[in-house]
Amino acid sequence: MALIDSFTGLVVDLDGVVYRGDGAVEHAVDALAGRPGSGVGVMYATNNAARPAAEVAEHLTRLGIPTRPEQVVTSAQAGAAMIAERLDEGATVLAVGGPGVALALREVNLEPVAPQDRIDDDAVADRIVGVLQGYGKELTWSDLQEAAYAVRAGALWQATNTDLTIPTGRGISPGNGSAVAAVRNAVDVDPLVAGKPYPPLYELCAQRLGESVDRILAVGDRLDTDIEGAHAAGMPSLLVLTGINRLVDAAAGPAEHRPTFVARDLRALDEDYVAPTADGDAWTCGEARAELTGEGDQLALRLDGGSPIEQARAALACCWTAIDDGRAPRELTEPIRATLTDLEAQLDQQEAA
Ligand SMILES: [Mg+2]
Repeated sequence: MALIDSFTGLVVDLDGVVYRGDGAVEHAVDALAGRPGSGVGVMYATNNAARPAAEVAEHLTRLGIPTRPEQVVTSAQAGAAMIAERLDEGATVLAVGGPGVALALREVNLEPVAPQDRIDDDAVADRIVGVLQGYGKELTWSDLQEAAYAVRAGALWQATNTDLTIPTGRGISPGNGSAVAAVRNAVDVDPLVAGKPYPPLYELCAQRLGESVDRILAVGDRLDTDIEGAHAAGMPSLLVLTGINRLVDAAAGPAEHRPTFVARDLRALDEDYVAPTADGDAWTCGEARAELTGEGDQLALRLDGGSPIEQARAALACCWTAIDDGRAPRELTEPIRATLTDLEAQLDQQEAA
């Protein structure tokens, strides 16, 4: 039975799972293009609030994955839905960030105003009852000032997401969480947050799919957003190793960062999932076996038999139980980390072959 056959819905992260920059991640198009006809509902959930959902859907369609705008939920939309629940219809909300932020507010019948409007017109400033803050490349210091003034004046503060960094084509740059932190330093309240790892974005996806969360598989490349968010929403999760986090991160992460399933890439959706099982302190997965040897700084991971992905699944289960039992340190040991890094190189080699 293929992994996907246990689920009726799929919520897929975008960056590092479906695309990297402009281009598709390997195997993503094949894994997702034919999915809508298969009886499994697919939603795409991204913390990136800069681009409107329709633009993201167009991008996916261009890559060869036909996608309707309703299948994409951004953290701007989830944030707008959250703030709309708490304000009257038609209420005036300061839109801080990219064009996706104001658009998401309009979609839920709120009236977005730009920071400049608040400066220009005292009457506008008086009407503002909420602030929705999301990522925007053209954000200015003055925008952050207006956000802080509005929050201080009593407006409800909603952040789309709190990712401290965001990967761009040129490297790692400050994300929306960094701009939110700047405002937070000038006010006395914490914002409401919609994006992963908080559950509202995933919950909105489940609502649109019309499925209960335990029937939906959340797929992501980041442990502290995608996987932690799935835990918070009560969704089973699949970590793919095509984006930010590595096998060694998953092995050494806290319990809320542990995915239900792990695979190199999205091909796993249509493959039989061989899960690890305990054998004393050792773990087996298919033909693979993982156990710890040695002690102290020299505590090591011994892997035998099976394929690299079977070894990876056995290794993760082995590390997690050892950490929980106090047999291994939380950050693991150098020999264990080296073995996991080497194992991941084998997975990548297999892919390249
Ligand atoms: Mg991602």
